[in-house]
This record gives sequence, C-alpha cells and structure tokens, in this order.
Amino acid sequence: MTDQTFTVPQLIGGVEKSAEEYFSVRDPGQLDDIVASVSSSSANDVESAVANARAAATVWASMSVHERADRLLKAADRLDKIKSHLADTLSREQGMLLRETTRDASNGAKALREAAAIGPDFMMGKELEDELTHLSVRHRPRGVVAAIVPWNAPMGLTMGKVGPALITGNVIIVKPSPFAPVAVTMALQQILDLFPAGVINVLNGDAAGPLLTAHNDVNKVSFTGSIETGVRVLKAASTSLKHVTLELGGNDPALILADADPAITVPGIFRQAMARSGQVCYAVKRVYVPRKDYQQWCDAFIAAADQLALGYGRDPESTLAPVNNRVQFDHVNQLAASAEASGARVHALGTKLPSAAAADGYYLPPRIVTQIKPDHPLVTGEQFGPILPLVPWDSEDGAIADCNATQYGLAASVWSKDEDHARACVNRIQSGVGFVNSHSRTPLGDRHMPFGGSKMSGLGRTRTDAGLREYVEPYALSTRKTNT
Ligand code: NAD
Repeated sequence: MTDQTFTVPQLIGGVEKSAEEYFSVRDPGQLDDIVASVSSSSANDVESAVANARAAATVWASMSVHERADRLLKAADRLDKIKSHLADTLSREQGMLLRETTRDASNGAKALREAAAIGPDFMMGKELEDELTHLSVRHRPRGVVAAIVPWNAPMGLTMGKVGPALITGNVIIVKPSPFAPVAVTMALQQILDLFPAGVINVLNGDAAGPLLTAHNDVNKVSFTGSIETGVRVLKAASTSLKHVTLELGGNDPALILADADPAITVPGIFRQAMARSGQVCYAVKRVYVPRKDYQQWCDAFIAAADQLALGYGRDPESTLAPVNNRVQFDHVNQLAASAEASGARVHALGTKLPSAAAADGYYLPPRIVTQIKPDHPLVTGEQFGPILPLVPWDSEDGAIADCNATQYGLAASVWSKDEDHARACVNRIQSGVGFVNSHSRTPLGDRHMPFGGSKMSGLGRTRTDAGLREYVEPYALSTRKTNT
C-alpha cells in the first residue's frame, strides 16, 4: 500500500458508514499500487440505505423544483472546485489519461447543471379548464432510484443519473462499479450536506447491485453497463414491476463512403475509436471501408495508430493509457489472437513509454486489424479496447446490411462529402444516435441531444426532456366543479 491509500466509506442517511468488509482498488497502470480500501456493502447496509432513502423521499419531493435546482447548482460548483483532485484519483483507479479523467470530472458538474437548467420547465405541468371541469397533469417522482454505474466514465455517468433523478424529486442510491468506486464516492461525499439526509446514498461492492434491483421498496433502476448485466437487471426488476432505464453496450459502425475526405475521416474516426483506450460505449468499434481504396485507408489508419504513445495515465507524455481491468485486457488479447488465426492481419503499433515499460499494468498497444471477415467476433461484438477492425465493402447496400447485422444499436456514423447522401445512409442504420462526418456529441450541447440505444443497446434515453421523463410518472387530476 502507498501512503496515499485511504478508506472509502458507504454513505447512508446523510452520514459515512463503515462496513464489515472492504475490498482493494488497484491502479491498472501500476498494479502494485492500492489506490483505496473500499467498503463492501452487505444486505443489512442495503436495507438501511433503502429505508433512509424512503424516509427522505417525501421531504425532498415536496420542495419546489427551483429549490432542488439551486442545490444541484451548488453541488456542481463544489465538484468544479475539487475537479483536479477527482481527475487525479480517477486516473489512478481507472487507468485513463489525466486529460480524459479531467473531462469526465467536468462532465459530472455539467450533468448537474444541465438537470438544474431543464428541470423547472419540464416539471411545470399543464392545466386545462372548461365550465364543468378542471384538469391538471403533473410529473410525479417515482420515489427511490437505484443508480448502477460502470467504470468507464464513472463521474459523468453517475451525475447524469443524480441530476435528473433529484431535479424531478426522487431520492437516489448510487452503486458505483467495484473497478472505479473511489472518485465517485468522494464526489458524492463532498455534496452530501447540500441535501436532506437520505436523499443521496452510496453503496459499494458486488452484492448491492442485485439486492437493489430486486428490492420491493426501490421504485426505479437506472442502469449503465453491459448487455448481459442489463438483461439480469431487467429480470430482477420485473418481479416488482420497477421502471428500468438501460444504457448498454455498443458496437458502433463508422461507414466510410467512396467520396469521403481522408483528412477529416481518419482523425475523426480514429480519435473516437481510441478515446479512453477504446473504452467508451459509443466509441467507433468497426469501420467499413470501400474496397477499391482499401489499402490507402488501411495505411492511413495504421499511420495514425503508430503515432500513439502508450504510457501511464498520469504520465504527460502518454497519449494512450492502459485498459481498466484484467477481464478487458484478456478479452482484447483473445480477440486479436482469434482474428490472426482466422486469417486477418493484426498490426500492433505505437511506442511504449518508459512509464508503461517499467510497470506491471494492463497495457495494450493500439491495434489495427485488416483483411478481417465481416462475421468475426471482433466485428460483430464489443471489444471495448484499443483494437479497430477495418472491413472492406463492395456496395453501399451491403455495407449498411453489415452495419445492421448485430444485436447492437447505440450509435453509427457515415462519412462523405455529400452530406445529404450520408444522412440518407445513416438513417438506414439501426441505432439510437446517428452522426454524419463526426462520431461525437453535438457542439450545440448535450441538453439538446437525447442519447440511448435501440435493439439490445438499451431501453429509454438520457439527457433532454426524454431523459427526465424516465424518472417521473405522469399524474392526472380531474376535478368536477360543484359551483356550475
Ligand atoms: P457491467 O455490466 O459488468 O457492470 C456495470 C455495473 O453493474 C457495475 O456497477 C456492477 O457492479 C453492476 N452489476 C454487476 N452485476 C449486477 C447484477 N446482477 N445486478 C445489478 N448490478 C450488477 O459493465 P462494466 O464492465 O462495468 O461496463 C462496461 C459496459 O458498459 C460496456 O458494455 C459499455 O458499452 C457499457 N456502457 C454503456 C453506456 C451507455 O450509455 N450505453 C455507457 C457506458 C458504458
């Protein structure tokens, strides 16, 4: 253990609670470094968190939406003040580049501000009246929300649940991933006193997730993670008919059309494929390339990958960091080996910095895979790592059919100088989000862009009014007037 090791508590009913058991979180870029010892919540802790949340629900729901917005804005300010500490901790527990974890820490505060900005109008409701009747339609909070998050962008994803849940009057129990629980718990600890006791609770470890999703007094589950776990969550929640939002895995295709401009296309796709070492739900995970220029496109992607410097996340020279955990590390290596065995060419590229060479960690080189068959698991599944397959296409129709030939439907992009034609093509790809000549959030702002998956990539949406709607029930009250 280093002298920076500390203990991460649970947060229940507005106070820190120790646990009977703890687990260690290690730095994926220096496995001998234990970042923190984290509380492992038991069944009793889950009962206590749910009871405390229930008790706080009425008080919080009865506050005005403006008061709730005010508290969220104060919370966002506090998170911004400790942003660099959060980013540093995130980089240690999660492995990613400091600039990537800094963005994630900023996204946390942004998500709270976004909810505070759009919440008041959304909660306004409607009144209708004629001579005989008065009708009011309101949004009511669902109650106790279990927010279960993964490790790959923990701050933005957690606050992307906390903001919408709280602004709409719900109370929340956050269950971070055991692979990145430290910064998230720390952030929520810092804002705890801004809210009535029990409005925000945090449970850690492996046991709490299944217990929360099956608990009769939890009213809603907002889950982000893999498809396999999402299906388990939905099954567990069904016995008490909880409302469930699922943000699940993606296998986003980028389709390069024959007239695409390489100067925009290669950096645009490559950046989104390798961001956070490929561990982004809507990263580009497969690229469809016109066969007639296949070799030129392959050369351009290989050259881009060769520029990367693989190193420790907090090393300023690094441009590619390790992956987060052993499962991901093995999964990506196995896909590379199987692709090679199937006849594909696997190009392992980039340089390894001394900070990676000297450490025991989950370091993977950036890999470009060419001559791969369209039905190989590296193409049809989610690799979630720095390895990108380039699949040649012979016809646009065939390429679009290949894009659609998976269970995934998160996002997709089409690249071409002809924007109208590219839009027509991307509209034929089954996904929740489409892009033309980019594969990233709109510069117009997240508050205008609903996000989520179709097919097995999810249920429901986040962000915008569509995201807030996941946390409320419409309530209609009709009054027959007696004085007419
Ligand atoms: P995961 O499914 O293994 O774990 C996610 C969370 O669920 C963790 O907190 C885990 O402890 C918890 N959990 C595990 N089993 C559970 C159960 N039976 N009941 C309740 N909770 C349980 O996913 P991961 O490896 O942490 O994250 C990577 C995956 O998340 C990738 O597939 C990625 O695409 C996806 N993801 C999707 C989005 C999106 O917005 N669509 C965003 C980020 C990540």
